[in-house]
Parts: sequence; C-alpha cells; structure tokens
Amino acid sequence: KSEMQAPQIIKLDDSVINRIAAGEIIQNPSNCVKELIENSIDAKAKQIQVNTKQNGLYIQIIDNGTGILKENLEILAERFTTSKLRKYEDLEKMSTYGFRGEALASIAEISRLTVQTKTRDQLFAYKAQYIGGKLIEEPTTLAGNQGTTITIDDLFYNVPMKTKTMTNDQFSKIFDVVSKYAIHNHRISFGLKKNDEKNNVIKTQPSDTPINAIRLIFGNNVANALIKVFIENIGLKFNLQGYVSKTDFNALKKGQFILFINHRNVESKSLKKALFEDVYRKILNVSVIPFIYLSLEVDPRSVDVNVSPTKHEVHLLNEDLIVESIKNVVHETLMKTNETKVMYAQK
Ligand code: ADP
Ligand code: MG
Repeated sequence: KSEMQAPQIIKLDDSVINRIAAGEIIQNPSNCVKELIENSIDAKAKQIQVNTKQNGLYIQIIDNGTGILKENLEILAERFTTSKLRKYEDLEKMSTYGFRGEALASIAEISRLTVQTKTRDQLFAYKAQYIGGKLIEEPTTLAGNQGTTITIDDLFYNVPMKTKTMTNDQFSKIFDVVSKYAIHNHRISFGLKKNDEKNNVIKTQPSDTPINAIRLIFGNNVANALIKVFIENIGLKFNLQGYVSKTDFNALKKGQFILFINHRNVESKSLKKALFEDVYRKILNVSVIPFIYLSLEVDPRSVDVNVSPTKHEVHLLNEDLIVESIKNVVHETLMKTNETKVMYAQK
C-alpha cells in the first residue's frame, strides 16, 4: 500500500465513544463522586451517604431522593438519556446540575455499576446491574426504602493507564468534594465513610446556615473565626453570600477557597488571588492562611452553563468589576471587625 493512499473513515463503536467520553468526565474517583452527589441532589434527596473503599475504586452512594422508575432502568446507563433536559431551549433555565445524560453512561463503561432504587409510588425496590452501559439481566425485585443506591465497583478496570498513574490520595480529593457540597447544600445531611471504618469521616445535619456544616467538617476554631459577607449589587446584577476568616485566624495548614457560582462549584484564579493576595496580604498586611466560602449568584445569561463537565474555571461577564466589588466588600468587612476589636480593647 502506498503512503499516499487515502485512509478509510469508519464510524466508531458506541463502546469506544463512551470510553473516550468517560475519560473526560471521570478523570479520577472524586469526579465520579461529584457526578453521583449531583444526581442525588437533582433527585431532591435530603440525605446522602457516600461510602468509599480501595482508594476510591469502590464507591457507593445512598440517597433518599425520588428514585428511578422501573421502566427507565433499561436505558438508564446509556449515553444521552436524561430526565432533565427535553429540548435545547431548556438549557437557558436549567435548575438541575445534570442535563446531558452522560455521567452514568461514562461510569458504566469503566466500572461495574449496580443501581438499586425505589420510587414513592412503586411497591418494590429494583436492582439492576450494568456492564458497558447495558443491563446484564432483567432487574430483580426486593424490599427497600425510597431512594437510590448506586454502587460502583472496580472503577477503571478496563482503563489500565488510569489505575497505574493514579496517586494513592484519592480519598482526600473525595473528602474535598463531599465537604464542599455539604457546606453549600447545608439543608441536606451528608455522610462520608472511608473503607470499613465504623465512624463517618464527614457527618453533617440539615441546617439553615452553612456554618454548622463548616463546624462539623473543619472544626470549631474555623467556624468561630468566620465573618459573614453579603453583597447585593444591582448595577452588576449579582449577589453574594459567604464567610471569610478573620485576619487574626491562622490555624489552617492549607488555604480553603470554596466558590460556588449559581450553585456550581467552580474555580476562579482571579477572585482567589484578589482575596488571598490583594486583600489579606497586601491591603491588610497579614500573612495568614484564610478560609473563604462564597456563594455567588449572577444572571444565568452572563455565565455559560453548557460547560464541559470538568471545566472548572469559569469566566463571567463583567468579571473584573465583580471581582473588584467583592474585594472591596471583603476588605471593608474585615476592617470593621478589626475596628470593633480595637473599640472593645479600648473600653
Ligand atoms: P443527567 O444527570 O445529566 O441527566 P446522568 O447520567 O447523571 O445524566 O443520569 C441519568 C438519569 O438517571 C438522570 O437524568 C436521572 O433521571 C436518573 N438518576 C441518576 N441518578 C439518580 C438518583 N440518585 N436518583 C434518581 N434518579 C437518578
Ligand atoms: Mg448527572
């Protein structure tokens, strides 16, 4: 065959396509936990228990949400099957985390997936097992409570490069994900268990404020050091609620910058830098490691929701102005508490 002969184009098998997509969505066990937690929240669960073993290669998540209809179990783990999106225009007003129906299909492609689920109106629970996105047999019937239990076993069993290159600190990444979601979704009770340990590593109770979850996860000294920040900016059309640690608090080894924009956990290098470096270090001139949790809500039209599943870093309309405004308010808030302290000291 000559070098210059045109190659044949063929259509890839679904399993190849799914496995490629899976590599993008599920890069490590914590991505998997994130997708499953989001599904449980979307299903209106009030309790979410995550159990992990084997450095995150085994993950089980138990929720008390709506459950899944028996007749949907057949296509549940196929690609682009979803109960959330109906037509393209819906994307503009999605209030759920999921919408593209790719997570379970991806997970099923690279693990052994078992789903046990019961809806409110069905008499029984059903248990379905999938390999490569396909049901391996007719779901079995059993007794059970309303909600869904998803069990993932042998994650990456058919992606040997992954398991070979994976570091052994996956649990700390899972801890990170669960703690962020537990703080932001403080009305939901979260549990996280490692291996077969008796006690949960994370256990939160439903609460009206994020402070209790922060207290239970990060401890009293962190929770007691926090000051509330609140902004309602009509001009720039955003509002912000959150907590920042006082300038005399310095008990953390690692800074925490937990940011949700429109209830999605994202990263923003510019905002983090503005607060950690500009406000604490430069303006207030303290060398402390802060704890910051912010929930920012912007006009949905000024941020793209159709982001790739792992695209954490987001860009906003008027980002520079919004960052500047948050920076100023955090600065003022921290200054005020310093003043109060001085005032008390002078009395
Ligand atoms: P998406 O979340 O984008 O719709 P997924 O692959 O994550 O896609 O899930 C597919 C569908 O499975 C969801 O639309 C939902 O109907 C159902 N589902 C998944 N997890 C749960 C759960 N924990 N409780 C109830 N339904 C679920
Ligand atoms: Mg989902």
